Amino acid sequence: MKVLSIQNLNKSYEKFALKNVSFSMQQGTIMGFIGRNGAGKTTTLKALLNYVHADSGIIKIFGEDFSDNEFLIKQKIGFVSGGVNYYPKKKLKIITEVTKRFYERWDEAAYKSYLERFKLDPDKKTDELSEGMKVKYQLALALSHHAKLLIFDEPTSGLDPVSRDDMLDLFITLVEEEQVSILFSTHITSDLEKCAKYVTYIKNGEILASTDKKSFLNSYRIVKGSSEQLTEEISKKLISFKRHMDGFCGLVRTENLPIDGEVEILPADLESIMIYIEKE
Ligand code: ATP
Repeated sequence: MKVLSIQNLNKSYEKFALKNVSFSMQQGTIMGFIGRNGAGKTTTLKALLNYVHADSGIIKIFGEDFSDNEFLIKQKIGFVSGGVNYYPKKKLKIITEVTKRFYERWDEAAYKSYLERFKLDPDKKTDELSEGMKVKYQLALALSHHAKLLIFDEPTSGLDPVSRDDMLDLFITLVEEEQVSILFSTHITSDLEKCAKYVTYIKNGEILASTDKKSFLNSYRIVKGSSEQLTEEISKKLISFKRHMDGFCGLVRTENLPIDGEVEILPADLESIMIYIEKE
């Protein structure tokens, strides 16, 4: 079942526009949303939940039109974009008391277990939390009402490696045990190598690819060779390349193989694909 479908989402700011953003997600999967700074990830995530008003587009969540069922659908969604940065002088337990009233399926036991897991003290005020703790608190709130779709904007970027690893393990457990679906943006491509099955790539407000991670990785190869091997014919086949002291390294679409000559052809990882595509 499609848990999320976005069709032709458009949003124009003075100097930036999301252009016909379309992609969809199946239930019980993890999708990574990647792209450079300013590519439009946050705008897309906020526009699809109506936190930013889109100019046009059709958003369906759990098969239903979001604009017609916003309140009910939001009961089944957990959304985190940055850490808690409101009510700086309020204690976490006070903010939780207010937040939980909104959710019909609030689970106090789950909330307490996340506080413990994330080592959060409910008696602390938000301005006493580190940046990573602020994100963890938002995640604890988002995870405590049995949401079926989690939409997180860079949930791991402020976390230390141990917490990040714990968070990714938690994502995998939620998907495996509760059939939750998770869409999250990140710059940390190793997060996606670890837990995402699907990848959506946005560049300058346009979706460049939205597919399963294996096919995405498989559609590119790294090409390495000496400076003499970099003929005009080869450079034309490459999406982009970089020269090094002793040669070159570039990216090619698998469909454009084979490449003549004795160059090395290697598998591509997400980080290299992003770097060479953005250099195109
Ligand atoms: P990052 O990885 O840095 O978080 P992003 O991919 O999430 O970037 P967005 O935050 O969606 O990018 O921003 C996309 C573009 O939209 C940027 O050029 C930004 O300046 C612009 N933008 C975002 N919000 C507004 C706004 N309220 N008014 C005008 N322009 C905006």
